[in-house]
Amino acid sequence: MVMKMIFDTIVGIATLRGISALNVIRVSGSDAIQLVNRLFVGKDLDQQPSHTVSYGHLIDDGVIIDEVLVSIFREPKSFTAENVVEISTHGGYLIAEKVIEALIKLGCRMAEPGEFTKRAYLNGRIDLTQAESIMDMVNAKTMTQLQIANQGLNGQVKELINDLQSDLLSLIAKIEVNIDYPEYDDAVVMTNEIIIPETKTIIDKINQILIKSDTGKVIREGIKTVIVGRPNVGKSSLLNTLLREDKAIVTEISGTTRDLIEGELNLGGILLKLIDTAGIRTTDDIVEKIGIDRAKKALSEADLVLLVLDQSQKLTDADKELIELTSDKTRIIVGNKTDLGSLVDIQNENIIKVSAKNKTGIDLLENEVKRLFVDEVLIGNNETMLSNARHIGKLKEANQNLKDALSSAQINYPVDMVEIDLRKAWESLGEITGESGTEILISTLFSKFCLGK
Ligand code: GDP
Repeated sequence: MVMKMIFDTIVGIATLRGISALNVIRVSGSDAIQLVNRLFVGKDLDQQPSHTVSYGHLIDDGVIIDEVLVSIFREPKSFTAENVVEISTHGGYLIAEKVIEALIKLGCRMAEPGEFTKRAYLNGRIDLTQAESIMDMVNAKTMTQLQIANQGLNGQVKELINDLQSDLLSLIAKIEVNIDYPEYDDAVVMTNEIIIPETKTIIDKINQILIKSDTGKVIREGIKTVIVGRPNVGKSSLLNTLLREDKAIVTEISGTTRDLIEGELNLGGILLKLIDTAGIRTTDDIVEKIGIDRAKKALSEADLVLLVLDQSQKLTDADKELIELTSDKTRIIVGNKTDLGSLVDIQNENIIKVSAKNKTGIDLLENEVKRLFVDEVLIGNNETMLSNARHIGKLKEANQNLKDALSSAQINYPVDMVEIDLRKAWESLGEITGESGTEILISTLFSKFCLGK
């Protein structure tokens, strides 16, 4: 049970500033309702029950700021577990500004980025994994990203970690009983013979979670992708086809064939993050003209290379150069212009045959990306996956602590020595949910949020 903390009352704008139909201003803290009530002309907000909406005007120094709707959420049944007021004003630049100004005059403080969610966490409404999932939901660009963000927000990630913690805690508790009350007859005498299998079971569970997290991580972070191919094989055409095909959310894709291409592409729910490959694409004579270093740099950053070849022609030296250059990468060879022929075959390598012009074979490409990077069964079954690099890193840390404990137990160290590593594992798990979170961790995490969240 987390004790509710007392904080000052904060105000923030929850929507984007600018010309829009509405803005929402959020106020949270014990005085939230009372402070808004001092500006509000309509029903007496102090008398309104929780989860109600009141219509009225906000008036500051006798001047009407706006006609508004005010929603009231009384503690603890609110997002922050404090009294919360959400004011819907008309949109635009000025109104929200004036409302916030008036509330600050009355004693509110401007909220920091992420402070509402931070309060929800500090007041025990949600744990850290849920708080981070809220940010993932806001940032989601594909439905699968939204799916795993929802898992986090629902508390599925928290449950997964809490389960591991409770297994570990029961093991630690049994050791403790032995150490503290060795004369206590009912307690099973804890020996390394008992600790070893129990620790192994927890390690196995963690390994299972880590295997699934490969898919989760790809969904959350996308795949850094480089599209390479000599000029005129159809890279731009392919990209355009991919964009249209998937009605992708694309950011910052710029340029013509000869310019850089950077941005994000939603390929069947998997985000491809395109990396600039201008260097590789601008010349026929790869080795001499571009400076092989630049090409290698782009390649070294990539998780995936899409190497485009022209199926209407035999392989050229430049093609062979690129095949060689990308041989140690995870790559998909895309044979484009299959409407004109199928002249290229490469030994021991599958060619995904497409026609950018006729928009054929795109589904094959999509399937190949999924085959290489994600476990579709996990996605289809909506299985809980860790996806956040911070969580995965901490889970790996916990796993290492458990392996250390296991090694100590296997060479029959005293159980209280073995317990030290088990405790470390418990703490690493606690850092995922925020149970053993440090101040610095908490403030760094929440500072990445947007204002009003
Ligand atoms: P890039 O230099 O690799 O980006 O190649 P472009 O996308 O600019 O394409 C070069 C030429 O090939 C253009 O005239 C395209 O219309 C043509 N092209 C691209 N894809 C196909 C295809 O699948 N079939 C056919 N027949 N022509 C294509």
